[in-house]
Amino acid sequence: MQLKTLEINGFKSFADKTVINFNSGITGIVGPNGSGKSNITEAIRWALGEQSAKSLRGGKMPDVIFAGSSARKPLNRAEVTLTFSNHDHALKTSFEEVSVMRSLYRDGTSAFYINQKPCRLKDIVNLFMDSGLGRESFSIISQGKIAAVFNSKPEDRRGIIEEAAGVVKYKQRKHEATGQLDETAVNLNRVADIIVELK
Ligand code: ATP
Repeated sequence: MQLKTLEINGFKSFADKTVINFNSGITGIVGPNGSGKSNITEAIRWALGEQSAKSLRGGKMPDVIFAGSSARKPLNRAEVTLTFSNHDHALKTSFEEVSVMRSLYRDGTSAFYINQKPCRLKDIVNLFMDSGLGRESFSIISQGKIAAVFNSKPEDRRGIIEEAAGVVKYKQRKHEATGQLDETAVNLNRVADIIVELK
């Protein structure tokens, strides 16, 4: 799986549509302080489903929308699209190319798309889970994160290793299955009570 293209429109300092192509090998993004380098990695995390405005250095999610400058009015909408080549099928879908898109209006209305089809946030999170590029994954290391990893509690560090080993998806499924089993046990108890009442 390779990130091929990042398209940013109205996200943070990117008021105009900006397309960044990532060729094979290493891509370096350089620029003066405050020119928007971190905003690029934040746009990637946001499109992958980041839900914490704080981790995107904002107070609330609409803060990611271009807030205006001395020369330009604020915008009403932010949109980020990531396009991946999926030749190795690291993403569990039959598509050879996968694009994910997230948009947000100032009133909080948001939308997610996989290959131009509307989907839920959960679908995007599931698609990237254990691929090494989830919103919580360690393929995106922002400033201060390395220190945070070293200073984290052993159980948190275990979570990092589990994510890297690809077991998070199974833990999640186990959690869902356990919830369904608990629900079934409650239903069975109810049925048993009704049977006793009918006797
Ligand atoms: P450094 O090298 O200092 O880490 P950087 O190149 O990583 O800087 P960023 O932190 O990505 O820069 O960008 C900061 C800039 O983005 C600031 O000028 C800030 O005003 C601008 N910015 C952040 N959010 C918004 C927004 N919602 N609307 C407009 N501009 C924004």
